[in-house]
Amino acid sequence: PESITVQELANRMAEKGADLVKALFKMGTAVTLNQPIDQDTAELLVEEFGHRIQRVSDADVEIGIEGEVDAPETLKSRAPVVTIMGHVDHGKTSLLDALRGTDVVAGESGGITQHIGAYQVTTKGGDVITFLDTPGHEAFSEMRARGANVTDIVILVVAADDGLMPQTIEAINHTKAAGVPMIVAINKCDKPEANPQKVRERLLEHEIVVEDMGGEVQDVQVSALKKTGLDELIEKILLQAEVMELTANPDRAAEGNVIEAQLDKGRGAVATVLVRKGTLKVGDTFVIGAESGKVRALINDKGQNVKTAGPSTPVEILGLSGVPMAGDQLTVVENEARAREVAAYRQEQATKKRTTAAPTSFEHMFSALN
Ligand code: GDP
Ligand code: MG
Repeated sequence: PESITVQELANRMAEKGADLVKALFKMGTAVTLNQPIDQDTAELLVEEFGHRIQRVSDADVEIGIEGEVDAPETLKSRAPVVTIMGHVDHGKTSLLDALRGTDVVAGESGGITQHIGAYQVTTKGGDVITFLDTPGHEAFSEMRARGANVTDIVILVVAADDGLMPQTIEAINHTKAAGVPMIVAINKCDKPEANPQKVRERLLEHEIVVEDMGGEVQDVQVSALKKTGLDELIEKILLQAEVMELTANPDRAAEGNVIEAQLDKGRGAVATVLVRKGTLKVGDTFVIGAESGKVRALINDKGQNVKTAGPSTPVEILGLSGVPMAGDQLTVVENEARAREVAAYRQEQATKKRTTAAPTSFEHMFSALN
């Protein structure tokens, strides 16, 4: 279709129709819920609401593995997925480690964690946050280039002694391009030469106006080394997530994206997947990139075997036919014949070197909104 009604777009964005009408009114367009709007207006709205347009190729729609939209009543809230970016040596790894140390569940189970490319933290209040353990804008933009917009929130780490550096600015630009909200963590505040206020001022030059400066971007002073400001950072992540009303349908065939993958001695091909929607189960038949398989085992970030993994959960999968690439999509299918069909199809697509998913029709453009 060349147009979409406000209500239908709201459903696909999992937003309230009335909020879209209000936003349109502010943009100078008075419409009712069931009135159609054109593609340009729809795209503006999508951006306004901070959603991302995921372009789906015609080919994927043809074979029927893309484009299923979950009805609004099936959506349940899910954990935010957070990526940490910033200049080298500003403390990304230290902050990831410090945040990981706040996990109350890991504390109880003796803190046996394993590196699977992502981990979850359960806060004192019982909320869950997923952190991608692959900091840096390269991993981020690589994933995005492969069509995997997995990050909900970016934490920009800036060392208070060093200030804004070239990779800080690159990270800002990547985050803006992705349309992902940012929280600024001003790190190394334990250092005598730390100057957090200067960081806030320099951010203005890049149109990042933090709350202290009268803007809306949350910022927090931390020390990954001394473990200060972590609770406040977690609070701000949860606040941002609440505003975003992140949801997914857990009761459907799983879809997800590869975070990392490798060939493991003894275990064979292993991939860490971040489940985006649905629930992945042991025994599920799946396609992952151009590989297929059957889930032999699922291992969580605490190194425990689990039977299932729901939305926003990172989990290691055993039972793959080969090693997929970071960003590759996992899709659970009905049976092995179907898995082979889709895998063969994707392999064919790959050989044709159809690397970019063409922005196609209006319908396809919005069919994978999330
Ligand atoms: P990355 O390159 O961004 O991952 O940075 P790292 O986490 O590896 O940290 C770089 C260096 O800064 C290491 O020597 C850390 O010990 C140090 N560092 C990280 N966070 C802090 C902090 O909050 N305070 C101080 N004083 N040093 C820190
Ligand atoms: Mg590092």
